Amino acid sequence: EYKGMSKERMMEIRRRNCNPMTMKVTSYKKPLFVHQGHMQWMWDVDGKRYLDLFAGVATVSVGHCHPKVTAAAEQQLNRLWHATNLYVYPSLHEYCEKLASYLPDPLKVIYLTNSGSEANDLAMLMARLYTGNYDVITFRGSYHGGSPQAMGLTSNAAYRYPGATASGCTNTMCPDVFRGLWGGSHCRDSPVQTIRDCSCAQGHCMANEQYIGQLKETFATSVSSRIAAFFAEPIQGVGGAVQYPKNYLREAYKLVRERGGVCIADEVQTGFGRTGSHFWGFQGHDVIPDMVTMAKGIGNGFPMGAVVTTPEIAASFGKGLHFNTFGGNPVACAVASSVLDTIKEEGMQQNSLVVGTHLMTELAKLRETYEIIGDVRGKGLQIGVEMVKDKASRDPLSPEAMNEIFEDIKDMGVVIGKGGLYGQTFRIKPPMCITMEDADFFLAVFNKCIHSYMERR
Ligand code: PMP
Repeated sequence: EYKGMSKERMMEIRRRNCNPMTMKVTSYKKPLFVHQGHMQWMWDVDGKRYLDLFAGVATVSVGHCHPKVTAAAEQQLNRLWHATNLYVYPSLHEYCEKLASYLPDPLKVIYLTNSGSEANDLAMLMARLYTGNYDVITFRGSYHGGSPQAMGLTSNAAYRYPGATASGCTNTMCPDVFRGLWGGSHCRDSPVQTIRDCSCAQGHCMANEQYIGQLKETFATSVSSRIAAFFAEPIQGVGGAVQYPKNYLREAYKLVRERGGVCIADEVQTGFGRTGSHFWGFQGHDVIPDMVTMAKGIGNGFPMGAVVTTPEIAASFGKGLHFNTFGGNPVACAVASSVLDTIKEEGMQQNSLVVGTHLMTELAKLRETYEIIGDVRGKGLQIGVEMVKDKASRDPLSPEAMNEIFEDIKDMGVVIGKGGLYGQTFRIKPPMCITMEDADFFLAVFNKCIHSYMERR
């Protein structure tokens, strides 16, 4: 039973002493006062249980307070919390060896940070030092972080501030086959969208060609002849589970490398088995990046991030001193190590594939039923349901309508997320321990909430 601070008092303190932005992103009209978590469940201060299908934005990878991970943290907390990286301690080395074993050659050198923004800042710096070039390209609609440097990479006005962000960053058109200019009717519409296989009648993907054409136009118009880096999330997270045509990343990587740039996969949301078919999102695109950045799910909620790169790129970074007080601290390493073990021991990648495919298959049926479900897409447990005013116009469903449905789903005991440039996409990225029963419960709730919205409308 909860005996802590009252809700009213928390709200009062929140208004007075907390980051005011957090009020804005508390997008529920009646806020959720969470108090406890266990695996895929959260409890509020009134003791009501919620199925958590957002996992703190794909962060709680193996489950809230997973007993194995908690035990690993406890053991390390009783042993050693902190030592600077100047000393050699076991948990860091155990972890780096283990994480490296999950990555293909030549991605074997690891820099540990405390967040995704830090990881992307570092990756950008390293790419510039290694290539000697300056220009960086990201997708419109991408999210790569909120630090001033990473904000330059992020291409979503809601997260940008007027001020000095990283210079030299250019955004290219996102190859979004649903909301973008090309795709949709050009694409084969399979019920479960994995990476879109846009095999048109002609045997090649017209949408892909058009989007690659836009990238070439970006090279021609907005950057110098040599570039430093191209950042891409394998599936956009904050952007709303946006997927690219098959082969887009392969072709983009080639074009970027021809211009001297390195290719960086931001796996902050897509890594650690979440996409089901693969451990890393980039593997689904059949590419090997020059750098991979990660955070969120790496620590199941414990602050941590990483950049993994090649020995060659790392060598160019050796000229100065790179220091990070907390990066790779013993507790974070013990937690992250246990996260990797838990994913493996409990078959969570496979579970993401099975439960995720079930969810998408059933959601795709709802798309046929309801005029306002425009698109169902994703891979494994990284799912987006894009809501529209109607299927013909594809205009985004209004924020008011989105909020109404979102609140209703929460009141019925399920927490999901929202994203997309217009807040029009529901995002489902639960802890990877959810079951088929959980999925069915959510599907029933979702169906009910959409149904009642349609009746009210
Ligand atoms: N990259 C991606 C793909 C993200 O989704 C986020 C966070 N939403 C970040 C980077 C930044 O991570 P952090 O908030 O840990 O700085």
